[in-house]
Amino acid sequence: MTTWRAASATNVGLVREANEDALLVTPTMAIVADGMGGHAAGEVASELAVSVFARLLVEQPSLARLNEGLLEANAAILADAQAHPDRTGMGTTLTAVMGVEYDTGTALAWVNIGDSRLYQLRDGAIKQITDDHSVAEEWVRQGRLSKEEAAVHPRRHQLTRVLGMEEAKDGDTGLLSVQVGDRLLLCSDGLSNEVSDAELAELASAPHGLEQAVDALVARALANGGHDNITVVVLEVESVSIEVPEQFRAEAPLSRASFAPASGPSQAAPVVRRSQRRRPWWMTWRSGAFLATLGGLVAGVFMVLSWYAHSAFYLADYQGSVTVYQGQPHGFLWYEPKVALQTVFKSSELLPGDATRLKNYISEPSLAAAIRHASNMHTSWVVSSPTPAQ
Ligand code: MG
Repeated sequence: MTTWRAASATNVGLVREANEDALLVTPTMAIVADGMGGHAAGEVASELAVSVFARLLVEQPSLARLNEGLLEANAAILADAQAHPDRTGMGTTLTAVMGVEYDTGTALAWVNIGDSRLYQLRDGAIKQITDDHSVAEEWVRQGRLSKEEAAVHPRRHQLTRVLGMEEAKDGDTGLLSVQVGDRLLLCSDGLSNEVSDAELAELASAPHGLEQAVDALVARALANGGHDNITVVVLEVESVSIEVPEQFRAEAPLSRASFAPASGPSQAAPVVRRSQRRRPWWMTWRSGAFLATLGGLVAGVFMVLSWYAHSAFYLADYQGSVTVYQGQPHGFLWYEPKVALQTVFKSSELLPGDATRLKNYISEPSLAAAIRHASNMHTSWVVSSPTPAQ
């Protein structure tokens, strides 16, 4: 059997009023969940997820069951939210590592949904096993953002996969290839957002004892701001039951990236890769934002011009009738005035002064005012005209 020693802690942090994180550590299973949702719903979601997932996986610890555990936890959260409408929209991340039956022994498997994390540490070096399911991290994987840009990007907290969604999503799963003495660090983003990978490697690694490591990690997250709930689990592998076969290593994230040096994982990325990443980011994100802004400005200018061109009304003669036009007399730019209403009043049935003014256009602020003016002019002419002979 693969065995470990463990230490863990959870802390509300310095800003949040409640701790919505949940954790579970047993001799064969470690889980961290980071709940979200108002009115204490985040706490309900994370604790529900941990208990439902753990119960299913304790009964049948297998790699194939990991996603079933997530599906059941997802369903439990949705059912609870339906029974308690004030919890609608609650959700949680879940990151777990556990011994699973494999071949003739047990191997360590992991599962992840959301942005809590699992790291593996060996000889003072650190490697992130899980991928965050956030918009910013998805963009890193697509080459649109660098890791450093994602760390401060406004959409780093926007999750693409989480438990509690109407449409249940699979988590990522894999087997871990571990050696005796390896450490595993599970944490909520209250730790990983505050503490760099290099600091995590330094604080979580031997020779620090497990309890000492956990305390130091929480203390560092608090010292760096403690903006969120902080949950930390550190495991140290004591015995390895079975070697994970080579083909599994090829599929597992363990072999996709090499351990980064503890002195600075970010330096491990070659400069050329950073520039390759940066270019698409400029091509897509920033240039897209620029074009959208420019497009908005141009559309805004056109709207103002159009408003000005069509905001005015005036009276003029058209086919012998007093007619209301909409637009600027003589037009404005490419906007031509158009007939809004041809009145029944004849242009010839006006007092001489009004007839002259009509030829020079009579401006009015609105269609109603223009009609009223036309009517008044006609009335003036009727009143002043001699009564026709009967
Ligand atoms: Mg959090």
